[in-house]
This record gives sequence, C-alpha cells and structure tokens, in this order.
Amino acid sequence: MRDFPGIAAGASLGDALKNAPLDTLENRILLGHALQLSRIQLITQSERLLTDDEAVRLTALYRRRLQGEPIAYIVGEREFFGLAMAVTPDVLIPRPDTELLVELALERLPQQGKALDMGTGSGAIAVAIAHTRPDADMTALDVSEGALKVAASNAQRHGAKVRFLRSDWYSALTGAVREFDLIVSNPPYIVAGDAHLAQGDLRFEPIGALTDHADGLSALRTIIDGAAGYLKNGGWLLMEHGYDQAEAVRELLARGGFTDVQSWNDLAGIARVSGGKIAI
Ligand code: GLN
Repeated sequence: MRDFPGIAAGASLGDALKNAPLDTLENRILLGHALQLSRIQLITQSERLLTDDEAVRLTALYRRRLQGEPIAYIVGEREFFGLAMAVTPDVLIPRPDTELLVELALERLPQQGKALDMGTGSGAIAVAIAHTRPDADMTALDVSEGALKVAASNAQRHGAKVRFLRSDWYSALTGAVREFDLIVSNPPYIVAGDAHLAQGDLRFEPIGALTDHADGLSALRTIIDGAAGYLKNGGWLLMEHGYDQAEAVRELLARGGFTDVQSWNDLAGIARVSGGKIAI
C-alpha cells in the first residue's frame, strides 16, 4: 500500500492540501471529511498539524478515491437542489442535470397537488419537491429496499413529507387510479453494454439504476404506457432520459395520448427531460 508524501503526522493542513494527490476541490472535500472541518475552518486552521491518526485516516480516503470510488460515496453525501442528500452504493448519485426535472415539476404542480416520483433512488427528486412545496402530497416509489431506506433518511433529514412505497414501477400502486397531478421519473435509461457503464463513477453505482439491460427505452416505455391510468386529466408526465433519446421519448408520449409534448435542455444544452400532458 502506498503512502502519499506530505500526508503524514506533523504536516500542516495547508501543506497537506498542497501535496495531496487529487485536484484542489477533491482534496478539500476529503480533508474536511477526515477532520470534520468546514471549508472555512480548513483555511483558518491551515497551520494546524496533522496527528498520526488523522494522517492514517486521510491516507485511507485518498487510496479509495484513487481506486475510483466516487467521492460522494466516500463522504456519504452529495448536494442536490441546495440540499445535502445522503448517498450509499444502494443509490445513484444525484446529478446537477436532474435539477431541471425538479424545476419543471415545481412549475406544473398545482397547490396541494399530488405528485409521484418513480424509481426515487436517494429520494433526491421527491425530497427536493416536497421540501420546496410543503403543500404537496408527494409519493415516491422504488423497487429497492436499500434505496428506500436512504430516501426515507433524506426526507427525514430535510423535514420533507414524502410517502414511500416499495414497488416495481406501477405494480404496488393499488387504489391510485387517476389520482396524480404529476408523475416524474429519472429511470435507468443507459443502453445495455454502453461503454460509459465501465467508466468513472458509474462503475460503482447500482447497475439497476443506470441501465434497463436493454435498448435504454424500456423503463421509459413502461412509465409512459402506464401513466394514463394514474394521471388526472391534464396531469403532466416528466422524465429524464439519455442525450440521444429525446425524439424517441417524444414519439412514445405522442403515441400514448399525451399533448404539449416537448423536451427541455440541461445545463450542457442537451435535451435531457421530455414530457407531456395527458388528455383522456
Ligand atoms: N445521468 C446518468 C449518467 O449518464 C444516468 C442516470 C440514469 O440512467 N437515470 O451518468
């Protein structure tokens, strides 16, 4: 096991930051996490010397990161929509792109509206909506028991009122016929065998949250096909999808009886969310 020069007992925090093996931002995150210090404290205490124990802890964190483990799993959280969300390897790490889905949902959710998040994972989407709109009646489902535990902890952490349900897509939604004003989802949409699955953070994330093990559209299709049975007349369905799936998703929506079918661009200018309004 290798050590990192500069990360040793007796080194100052300032020197440890300078000599650490990652980029500045990641160094700061890991040092802050290991020593339980805020960003500001890292600066004001830059003369403070690392203890033996701290150097050992820090070295272990750097080793994990250099082996590719996502920094969000190492520190156990990631910020989403301004809220710190707990994450574990049971859930996908929330992406900034997905904040677009939350914004679009918030614009369309009526007062006291009923919303459903399908495949909630960490609960990031549902918690962000319910936290912003305490009047909302929010339901979130996932097939993974492990994910639901993480999601429930995030709802509790932020005082967000969310009803959680273990369900394989619509299967456990008994008695929910035509009751939602809005359905949102960031489902697994990566095509089976896509090279990205073997790169970066994705290697460590739950495979079932990333790919449908098929053409990338099968979960999106299931959601679209079932939505009419659960949406009120005029209710919206909004889904995140892959960079090259917007046209296919719009076509599925149009064929499924949706109107106002459209796509919206993410921060990188890529059509990332598509949706429509159900008219029955
Ligand atoms: N946006 C994620 C990625 O490409 C995938 C998330 C998903 O499949 N829902 O890294």
